[in-house]
Amino acid sequence: YVAKRNKGGYAVYDASYDTHQQEHLSLLSEIRQAVEGHQLRVYYQPKVGLTSGIVEGVEALIRWEHPRRGFVSPAEFIPFAEHTGYIKVLTRWVLEQAIRQCGQWRSNGMPLQVSVNISARDLLNRELPELIVQLLDRYGTPASLLCLEITESGFMEDPAHAQRVLERLHELGIVLSIDDYGTGYSSLSYVARLPVDELKIDRSFVKQMSDSTTATIVRSTIELGHSLGLKVVAEGVEDEADLRTLRVYGCDQAQGYFMSRPLPAKELEEWLKHSEWSRPVAATRDVS
Ligand code: C2E
Ligand code: MG
Ligand code: MG
Ligand code: MG
Repeated sequence: YVAKRNKGGYAVYDASYDTHQQEHLSLLSEIRQAVEGHQLRVYYQPKVGLTSGIVEGVEALIRWEHPRRGFVSPAEFIPFAEHTGYIKVLTRWVLEQAIRQCGQWRSNGMPLQVSVNISARDLLNRELPELIVQLLDRYGTPASLLCLEITESGFMEDPAHAQRVLERLHELGIVLSIDDYGTGYSSLSYVARLPVDELKIDRSFVKQMSDSTTATIVRSTIELGHSLGLKVVAEGVEDEADLRTLRVYGCDQAQGYFMSRPLPAKELEEWLKHSEWSRPVAATRDVS
């Protein structure tokens, strides 16, 4: 499609529009090829318990190794996939990888909760709960080991519908988390009415805890989350000082480069063999 109509009613060729469309079409076909051509990977980043001192779960993060462009960030292609509706295919693919991996780790005596990011578009998909049930059955993975991370904007697109889907997922025993908390415009009093279990404080706050106002926001969010019965997780923990502060504030879990970057499953297993975060707290670690 290369022509646009002006007010006079005849076609006007718009070169910039054309280029834009072409780029989109080629990106869409490349994403399709990525799925079929095995260019996609799932990496896993540990979430450590600040009381237990050990890895309690991991977040599944999609990676695209493009044959020519190299590594393409999800921040670039996920919004595009959402826009085109192709996210449905990507979400199904990530869910299958993550649920299979989770079941496998559990059979190997390593029961890690796996968190998967779900977009607003996915919540509009009526078949999502059924799809997840099938995958959990297929790989013998308990629902309680699956966590779905949803951003605030994901709840707000169609709140009534989102509420129903979330309630169904919650009834199934799946853990629900509010991702990037603090970056949207919804109030905690609104989202806490949804059947959610966990709150993830956005890394833009964690990054700036040396600023006393931001530190106060983080501390109050943790307290408020706890008063509402939610587990509170901090993302983007990049140094020991962040970790210490979060521990003092009573945050439940931390995730970030300070502990580990996201890793392929095999590398995560290797990392766990040597990490101080894989030993039981009582024996080896002072977390106070
Ligand atoms: P997110 O869900 O908030 O994931 C956390 C992001 O922070 C990840 O970026 C992770 O690599 C990064 N991160 C973790 N620790 C640190 C740290 O200490 N410092 C810094 N600077 N960054 C840290 P990533 O993997 O590039 O993903 C970006 C976003 O793309 C995710 O944000 C999520 O919204 C989206 N995304 C990633 N994978 C998927 C997926 O499978 N499905 C969907 N729908 N979205 C995904
Ligand atoms: Mg996330
Ligand atoms: Mg997040
Ligand atoms: Mg984030």
